[in-house]
Amino acid sequence: MSKIIVFVEQNAGNVSRASLEALGAANSLGGEVVAVVFGDGSTSVALNAARTIALEGTQYSPDAIAADITAIANEEGAGAVFCASTGVGRDLAPRIAALMDCPCFSDCTAVAANGDSIAFTRPTLAGKLIANVKSSGKAVATLRRNCFQEVEGESAAVTTRPASTDFKALLTEITAKTGGTLDVSEAPIIVSGGRGMKDPANFKLLEDLAAAFGNAAVGASRAVVDAGWRPHGEQVGQTGKTVAPQLYFAIGISGAIQHIAGMKTSKVIVAINKDPEAAIFKLADYGIVGDAMEIVPALTEAVKGALAGA
Ligand SMILES: Cc1cc2nc3c(=O)[nH]c(=O)nc-3n(C[C@H](O)[C@H](O)[C@H](O)COP(=O)(O)OP(=O)(O)OC[C@H]3O[C@@H](n4cnc5c(N)ncnc54)[C@H](O)[C@@H]3O)c2cc1C
Repeated sequence: MSKIIVFVEQNAGNVSRASLEALGAANSLGGEVVAVVFGDGSTSVALNAARTIALEGTQYSPDAIAADITAIANEEGAGAVFCASTGVGRDLAPRIAALMDCPCFSDCTAVAANGDSIAFTRPTLAGKLIANVKSSGKAVATLRRNCFQEVEGESAAVTTRPASTDFKALLTEITAKTGGTLDVSEAPIIVSGGRGMKDPANFKLLEDLAAAFGNAAVGASRAVVDAGWRPHGEQVGQTGKTVAPQLYFAIGISGAIQHIAGMKTSKVIVAINKDPEAAIFKLADYGIVGDAMEIVPALTEAVKGALAGA
């Protein structure tokens, strides 16, 4: 297996779980893995890679960082570059692929060694089909979150190199979401609500259930986002976010194909719907037929009780 470069996202030395999973995917292929990190704190990260290269710079420019990663990949003779399928990863990967003149496989859910190249699995056509694709040579890929085993550890050596300052586009400001709530794309548990919640005020029931778990985010169907009940950042689906948490609750959500496209790779799916014929039950691992207004508070109390005794 040829060498793989993994771009690792970190913030003040804290590495994103999505990047640890990308490292896990690369390590699983058996070749040498070189991690590339950028920004303040990048020299202090401990990663499970043969080597870590810290790009020293403070200004995020996707074209400049893509050029740096490409230069490293060429110098290292790497056969592949992996990024997490995050906003940053999706920003960088196609630029790197264009610079390396190789294919870019996006949002992959599995990888496998294929001789000296790599075979990738990725959902396509809104998740209706699963495509198995392989590169005949070099490849760039973004890897979907929650699909690979994360790896942590001590890297053998960290070397530094100055990040390019030849910017075409430059990130000047990030406005953080207020409230400190978990984002659906990061949370291991998602409690999503749809039109069956009847009223935006009833989402308090879902927020309480999410709070009872402690590590859950509230998600939403497009119907409630379009109605202005919930912010677009919470929308799951074809035109929202693609998620793959350990546990996904679809509450008062019918199970339209466009919603399913964004959550069907969740590990365990629980549906609560008063219509026993709702399409979501065909996908769900566990289904509860009934009124969400009665079931969700009871579930919240049960979760609180179970976790208090844990
Ligand atoms: C191009 C395109 C892109 C789209 N992208 C997305 C997307 O990204 N994400 C997305 O979600 N949708 C998307 N949609 C919309 C999608 O087709 C559906 O319209 C939408 O998902 C329906 O949302 P819903 O399930 O909340 O509402 P509904 O379909 O109205 O379902 C409500 C459900 O709640 C149940 N219910 C009612 N009352 C209760 C109760 N008291 N307790 C329990 N259950 C109850 C009902 O039985 C029903 O099943 C897209 C559509 C198009 C055309």
